[in-house]
Amino acid sequence: MTNAKKYVQTIQEKLHQQDRGEVEFLQAIDEVLPTVTHFLENHPEYIEQNILGILVEPERIIQFRVPWQDDQGNWCVNRGYRIQYNSALGPYKGGLRFHPSVNLSILKFLAFEQIFKNSLTGLPIGGGKGGSDFDPKGKSDGEIMRFCQSFMLELSKHIGPSLDVPAGDIGVGGREIGYLFGAYKRIKQYDAGVLTGKPLNFWGSKVRTEATGYGLVYFVKHLLAQEQDSFTDKTVFVSGSGNVAIYAIEKAQALGAKVVTCSDSSGFIYDPTGIDLDLLKEVKEKNRQRLTEYAAQKTSAVYHEGKSVWSLEEVCEIALPCATQNEITGELAEILVKNGVQIVAEGANMPATVEAVSAFHDAGVWYCPGKAANAGGVAVSALEMSQNSQRLTWESEQVDQQLDEIMQTIYETCRQTAAEYDEEKNLLLGANIAGFAKVAEAMSAQGLV
Ligand code: GLU
Repeated sequence: MTNAKKYVQTIQEKLHQQDRGEVEFLQAIDEVLPTVTHFLENHPEYIEQNILGILVEPERIIQFRVPWQDDQGNWCVNRGYRIQYNSALGPYKGGLRFHPSVNLSILKFLAFEQIFKNSLTGLPIGGGKGGSDFDPKGKSDGEIMRFCQSFMLELSKHIGPSLDVPAGDIGVGGREIGYLFGAYKRIKQYDAGVLTGKPLNFWGSKVRTEATGYGLVYFVKHLLAQEQDSFTDKTVFVSGSGNVAIYAIEKAQALGAKVVTCSDSSGFIYDPTGIDLDLLKEVKEKNRQRLTEYAAQKTSAVYHEGKSVWSLEEVCEIALPCATQNEITGELAEILVKNGVQIVAEGANMPATVEAVSAFHDAGVWYCPGKAANAGGVAVSALEMSQNSQRLTWESEQVDQQLDEIMQTIYETCRQTAAEYDEEKNLLLGANIAGFAKVAEAMSAQGLV
């Protein structure tokens, strides 16, 4: 066994001991660390400085109580968190997730992945993530506002435009960012750059709403182009029906693909004539309704209650999982392979389990990991920070073009790095090594801090 291999395994074993039960966090660790071994073999200086051992420890974890009052006057409480994982490349940057499943393990995995994702964008942002186990589903506007205000009363002590810049994630969109921003402003001052994903009328960036979904499709577009192929007439499965899914569908359709699925937490839509995007937007964005409403209005669509999109046995050439972590198990991955999938690109964070990733690699499927393929969202967040610093806003075309260029660079970096390590089709290895290399270099140069 090489020195690097022994070193990495020791770190993995220690984390499995110390963080027992943090399933998602350990999954992310086990997915990243073995691939980084190859890089460390060429960089013994980083082993000597124990860069990886230091990097896996979050710089800071903040946990706090969020008391709030519901519409009936009940006194309620939730847990709030912010993980400030790594600031080697810039202020902590990453979203806030409001979902009942949120716990420390999930936020640590998300923050850990965010470090490498943000590094891949080439922009000056470190890695962080936060959120709460608060469930926004079924809550009134007033309840959401009061929760956001209470959440920010505590979070405001720990963030700032050059310190930590949160944004949205699952359950946190423009409405929540608006309330959070208002609360921050009242407690501290008007810092436009303290949050990103802001509504356009107070210094949000154009194309930020679309950026994760568009960026995902741009990433795949560049991969297809290198393979002398394109989206034209491709059959695409998408999961999810939030922000990422909607704008991935929009861009894929604009490039000539036929998208036939989308999903919510209780089932999925199969619409063989192609998803009607206007109807989907009306149901999800405007009316905040469930997908059953889409099926009720479109006769060609069938709603499969309680089922995963990935259990659908129909032709699928490109799969874009845009729902949540671990939605594609090994078993479901086998179905996708049988369906003829050629490319799986992750709009969500870690939607494929370790077994699913292996199944894709074994079948020769192009697997595009979330930290590379969905980096467009945070990249445009960083562009929003630039605009806020300049006190200017850029036009849509300018932001969109930069997004496309950033996704192209990320794609090429992953592919070239994979090739350097003789693993031409292993974009996961390419993404992990390229993301890690920049962070390691910066950490080493900044000394033991
Ligand atoms: N939550 C998004 C992500 O997973 C975006 C974070 C941001 O814009 O800061 O990358």
